[in-house]
Amino acid sequence: MSDLKRPWMDTDLEMLRDTARKFFERECVPHEARWTAQHHADREIWSKAGQAGLLCASIPEEYGGGGGSFLHEAVICEEQAGAMVGAFSNNVHSGIVAHYILAYGSEAQKRRWLPRMATGDLVAAIAMSEPGAGTDLQRIKTSALRDGSDFLISGSKTFITNGHHANLICVAVKTDVAAGAKGVSLVMIETDGLQGFRRGRMLEKLGQKTLDTTELFLTRCVCRQKICWAAKRAGALPS
Ligand SMILES: Cc1cc2nc3c(=O)[nH]c(=O)nc-3n(C[C@H](O)[C@H](O)[C@H](O)COP(=O)(O)OP(=O)(O)OC[C@H]3O[C@@H](n4cnc5c(N)ncnc54)[C@H](O)[C@@H]3O)c2cc1C
Repeated sequence: MSDLKRPWMDTDLEMLRDTARKFFERECVPHEARWTAQHHADREIWSKAGQAGLLCASIPEEYGGGGGSFLHEAVICEEQAGAMVGAFSNNVHSGIVAHYILAYGSEAQKRRWLPRMATGDLVAAIAMSEPGAGTDLQRIKTSALRDGSDFLISGSKTFITNGHHANLICVAVKTDVAAGAKGVSLVMIETDGLQGFRRGRMLEKLGQKTLDTTELFLTRCVCRQKICWAAKRAGALPS
């Protein structure tokens, strides 16, 4: 990967590419066979990636990120693919969940989660797919029912990347079953010590075998943190 010439590369990105290439070669390649057999990498790879500056590279420095752009994420992704290691999905963690928080989270939520995502203390996943709803997300059944100022989340999710290690999960839920797509929201759950939260099977896959992909089950999990747009816009949720 690294010998391909990109017109958008600059000195900063070259340095990151070099760091990423060495990281994947040193920290992941030697463990690939063992991680493939157990269907997940060791948890410490997240902390090591954080120490190497490979997590949240496109998140502003004031939130603990690298202050870069999508190009920084692309460089890391290219080097991971070039090393042919699954190991962990930085794309989900840094490229998707961190940016949902950055775009839709409150200031307090950004400060609560993003710095710990950058260190690898928190591992993020996004849980949309369900046994009965993959492509058609309107059909999800996972519900978020009001309980005072909290929500109670119940449902099951499947094919969740980083699902074995994740302790911060962005969950697609129905806050209003009658409202179709407009009744779908995202809520954040912190899973450490969360009552009613359970991880299911580590799923067998044709490829990406080192990457943990699991089922998740939620039974009346209390959620106090919401980053929602449809329901929030409709005034259904407190800000
Ligand atoms: C390795 C892996 C990792 C994943 N990680 C995550 C994750 O982190 N989080 C998460 O939420 N999900 C994840 N997924 C799930 C993935 O997003 C779903 O598999 C995907 O959305 C497709 O859903 P499905 O498998 O239920 O297929 P279906 O929705 O049943 O679709 C099957 C096929 O039918 C086609 N199709 C469906 N509806 C229509 C229609 N109306 N018209 C025409 N064609 C249609 C689709 O294009 C597809 O080709 C992962 C999946 C895999 C394999």
